[in-house]
Amino acid sequence: METIGTETAFEAAARARALEAEGHSIIHLEIGEPDFDTPANIRAAAARALEDGWTHYGPPFGLPQLREAIAADVTARKGFEASPEQVVVTPGAKPIMFYALLALAEAGDEVIYPDPGFPIYESMTRFAGATAVPLPIRQENNFRADLDELGSLITPRTRVLVINSPANPTGGVFTREDIERVAELALRHDLVVLDDEIYGRIVYDGEHVSIASLDGMAERTIVLDGFSKTFAMTGWRLGYAVVPEPLLAPYSRLIINSVSCTSAFSQIAAVEALTGPQDAVDEMVAEFRVRRDLIVEGLNAIPGISCRTPAGAFYVFPDVSGTGLSGSELADRLLREAGVCVLSGTAFGHIGSDHVRISYANSQANLREALSRLDAFVRTLPGVSAGAPS
Ligand code: PMP
Repeated sequence: METIGTETAFEAAARARALEAEGHSIIHLEIGEPDFDTPANIRAAAARALEDGWTHYGPPFGLPQLREAIAADVTARKGFEASPEQVVVTPGAKPIMFYALLALAEAGDEVIYPDPGFPIYESMTRFAGATAVPLPIRQENNFRADLDELGSLITPRTRVLVINSPANPTGGVFTREDIERVAELALRHDLVVLDDEIYGRIVYDGEHVSIASLDGMAERTIVLDGFSKTFAMTGWRLGYAVVPEPLLAPYSRLIINSVSCTSAFSQIAAVEALTGPQDAVDEMVAEFRVRRDLIVEGLNAIPGISCRTPAGAFYVFPDVSGTGLSGSELADRLLREAGVCVLSGTAFGHIGSDHVRISYANSQANLREALSRLDAFVRTLPGVSAGAPS
């Protein structure tokens, strides 16, 4: 158990709630979940499903109608032919990475993962007994990977390469050319790619490219996606993977040993999510874009903070070194002294220590208030000029 990590967003949220219980006003910018309600047509489909008796165990890989809907959606949106037999439905997308790393990585293997990146990649790699090799993702490279550096990290022991675009926690998006170069490396070195596409529909600039759409890649890629972010369905626990054929048997055994199957009425609602009107998704993404612009502009007007404009997801990952505090000191003091909950960059690996992660999946009014509290707090710090914006 000592090798397994955690996701500190849940701990930060608990700390913030404890302060709220003591009467403090806290703005929550820590958790990565849309603040919107699940669209009404999806909620209604779930209510109908409950009345219709979708309350029993289902097949381990998911209901056939949902696997078909996912295969059709993947084929249309991600640009490669997915068959329903390759689709695996799970309670949230997280189990996909859990199973991928348990199935593929063991002592002596190396897994390359983005740093900063979603903390579970490293944690599960270590839990599987393998060596986690960080691929640095830097602000000066606009939060895209340096692919020469990626090439230099690959050894004969490298087994799995994890990519995530648009990314948590940076909002960075790989270009088509980046994805092509990653694919070349994966083909040349015979790697399996775990492609975390959970933010694939939340893109503002550029395009989302699934690596599985490139020649020769579908058979070596586990495509991870789900309903949590796109449809504001975090609490429903609905994720899926498109898995190469040889991995279906391991996935089946791991699912049967752990969760048996995914909630049946949630899956019926997920069919509606994919096949019903998509306007709610478009509206959420349009609103996220407005909030992105608001938060980026607001942060860059605060002395000591420098923030890039992310091309996707709903996070910013500003460099706060100009405040004289590390990311973790700033996150800690902001929560206690200014009532704004953000995460330290170190919650996402080793190289983000000068950063904090801010989830802007919150109302414009709350974002404005958070910016004004942050600005007032930073101006009290010694060495930060109270004058012109940085
Ligand atoms: N991948 C990434 C990059 C994420 O940020 C998250 C959720 N924060 C997940 C996967 C997991 O999604 P789910 O809630 O569906 O398990």
